Amino acid sequence: MRGLLLVISGPSGAGKGTICRALRAKIPQIGYSISATTRPPRPGEEDGESYFFVDREKFLKMVKEGAFLEWAEVYGELYGTPRKPVEEALARGQDIILEIDTQGAAQVKRCYPEGVFIFVIPPSYAELERRIKGRGTESPAAISDRLAWVKKEMDQLDLYDYVVVNDRVEDAVAKIEAIIIAEKCRTRRLKNTDWYELFWS
Ligand code: ADP
Ligand code: 5GP
Repeated sequence: MRGLLLVISGPSGAGKGTICRALRAKIPQIGYSISATTRPPRPGEEDGESYFFVDREKFLKMVKEGAFLEWAEVYGELYGTPRKPVEEALARGQDIILEIDTQGAAQVKRCYPEGVFIFVIPPSYAELERRIKGRGTESPAAISDRLAWVKKEMDQLDLYDYVVVNDRVEDAVAKIEAIIIAEKCRTRRLKNTDWYELFWS
């Protein structure tokens, strides 16, 4: 059985990174796609761990070479998903998470309609504002930019199969675990299974 392609999007500060870290700690065999970005690293971010940090020239060269499954400009910086690690994970049956924006998710949906698209939202706009400010990783101007995009991103909610409200991290992670289990039981994913052979032999 091919792996599940899990696409996770949501406004900046919703808690996507926090949820993905907790999910990976609980399910160590799950893959996580490391994106390339032109955004400068935040304190503590190591190259090749959270992102591959590249300059604009290198990023555009990768675009030309077809190295990305999808890419987009988000908050004035370029972000892209390297194609090869995703294709390899799915082919060997490993589930893999892509934490990407709504523009990228729309591109992925065109080539992987069988992907599982999950939108993470905080309990309220006020809580989102509190979280993004509390994280303390962006300047006030960058925070305003990110908050200005929230409505545009929320308008894309219909593209997604599931919406997960991130009230408590543990609950949000439990919901995503439940989604993974349910998706693996879908008849349309199991259509190549020889039930006769499995059941009657
Ligand atoms: P994103 O990856 O969506 O931009 P982060 O995972 O960086 O968001 O979370 C933004 C901030 O909110 C971080 O400081 C994180 O610790 C905090 N946070 C995330 N989830 C929750 C939650 N359920 N309750 C309270 N704070 C949270
Ligand atoms: P951050 O700068 O906070 O790490 O990420 C900013 C936004 O870029 C988030 O919405 C995140 O999901 C998105 N993002 C991260 N990597 C990718 C990627 O490879 N492709 C796309 N399209 N968006 C990405």
